[in-house]
Amino acid sequence: MVRLHIYGDLDFFLGPRIRGGKVDRRLSEKTSIKDVIESCGIPHPEVDLILLNGKAVDFTYAITDDTEIEVYPAGVQFPNFREKHLQVHTITEFVADGHLGKLVRDLRLLGIDVAYDPAAEDRQLVEIASRNNRALLTRDRRLLMHAAVQHGYYLRSQNPLEQTIEVLRRFDLGAILSPFSRCLRCNALLEPTEKEKVIGQLEPLTKIYYSKFRRCTGCGQVYWSGSHFTKLQKRLEQIRANFGG
Ligand SMILES: [Zn+2]
Repeated sequence: MVRLHIYGDLDFFLGPRIRGGKVDRRLSEKTSIKDVIESCGIPHPEVDLILLNGKAVDFTYAITDDTEIEVYPAGVQFPNFREKHLQVHTITEFVADGHLGKLVRDLRLLGIDVAYDPAAEDRQLVEIASRNNRALLTRDRRLLMHAAVQHGYYLRSQNPLEQTIEVLRRFDLGAILSPFSRCLRCNALLEPTEKEKVIGQLEPLTKIYYSKFRRCTGCGQVYWSGSHFTKLQKRLEQIRANFGG
């Protein structure tokens, strides 16, 4: 029998019948540790450290019956195994699955690079994640278990604000936030622009009352500190209050 000790918030993935973070599995043949862990419902991008009899091993390590393994999530500090961590902690680029539009908007508002297409199919998401080394954000556990996905995160909450905080914490993004630097629509960076250059795109009152504008380097969308700006600032404050607390 293989006994798995599941630590931290990884017990989120275990069924309600499993208590104390202990799961037992019977193996009829040599199986990779990764397959054993995923058979318990835990996607491999959620696992940062695996200890077998106190020794760190990687996902491909094959185990047989009569093994005890410890499985840890990202964010748990083990100085002794610093080089054995399975997840990269410097990911700052993401791809989100098609159901996460509100989360994507929040993250882009904070200046974080998130590729997003509401119509993207699973195989496209996997390809973007693996080819561009982006972490996949999703609430689809199967998708996160795809072998080609290296980095990713399963959103615990269904609430966009809580999801945003989850992502900031999981990937330790606090230091790189740069609000109002990225287009909410297409993810490209914004640049300051002169009023004369965008005047054709402005409503009459905007022309009168505003003088500072930024334009998206991707889709050309013009941004200024109008009424939508106040709403976005409120959202930012909401995120900051929750992230700090
Ligand atoms: Zn844009």
